Amino acid sequence: MKIKFKLFYTDTFPIPIPENHSFPKDKYRLLRMRILESQIAQSVDLQIPRPTTHEEIMRAHDPVYIHRLQNAELTAKEIRRVGLPWSPEMVRRARYSAGATIAACRAALEDGIAVNLGGGTHHAFSDHGQGYCWLNDSVIASRAIQAEGLVQNILIIDCDVHQGNGTAAIVKNDPTIFTFSIHGKNNFPYQKEKSDLDIALENDADDVVYLKALANGLKVSLNAAGADLVIYLAGADPYKDDRFGRLALTKEGLAKRDRIVFQSCQEAGLPTAVTMAGGYARNVQDTVDIHFQTILSALEHQNL
Ligand SMILES: [Zn+2]
Repeated sequence: MKIKFKLFYTDTFPIPIPENHSFPKDKYRLLRMRILESQIAQSVDLQIPRPTTHEEIMRAHDPVYIHRLQNAELTAKEIRRVGLPWSPEMVRRARYSAGATIAACRAALEDGIAVNLGGGTHHAFSDHGQGYCWLNDSVIASRAIQAEGLVQNILIIDCDVHQGNGTAAIVKNDPTIFTFSIHGKNNFPYQKEKSDLDIALENDADDVVYLKALANGLKVSLNAAGADLVIYLAGADPYKDDRFGRLALTKEGLAKRDRIVFQSCQEAGLPTAVTMAGGYARNVQDTVDIHFQTILSALEHQNL
């Protein structure tokens, strides 16, 4: 019997923010609805994961920060840096979202590819949150899977348009997690960290420029990482009509990006867990289109 394609979702846990907030909280539910209404509805197995545990969080984060995050002790300044209002529900959602990345990693090891329909909160550092990110799901999941003895080395391929600065900083001295970030040079975060491989693109870089740089970056990082597992942040925000993007990729270009990543990982024999990361298109349906085509491409490559 053919295995069903596992997708983990957490959009049923609310993100309490004002209606006019720039964070596109609706995209997660809209994406799940798009999948359920599509031709692949019968091929997928949608699951709510367990939340990440305290022990798992502690492998990626500073205990004092986590204590203060969980007990309403962050300062107004620290909360402003994240850009989302703090609430117990917000922290609960972040814990489920990181749990979804762990679940996607475990499922990828069994099935080849699996997806978290959220996650990719790569601006969270060990001891502080930033840029809509409270917990770093990529590092939490990497270390959870390593602690279970399932893999040794992990490659994080970060194609969100913003640099994966939190991820890079947390694993700076960890040779078992290789970070590759391809992002806009003149975009947030303005103070970049050092990933194992960074490719910084000029404003308005288009499909051709991006895909060429990506192919090179994949070759280098797949060679260098010696990975047993990939976590792919498939951000929708390199899109030309993204409010926070500054690059000029088309939907077709982004579909090609996904195919190149999945194909390269498949050729290297690497299980791949996918997270959605950012996406702030002027029309939220464009963001959902881009995330949905990532899901379609993932499913295609799982079946090959
Ligand atoms: Zn982003």
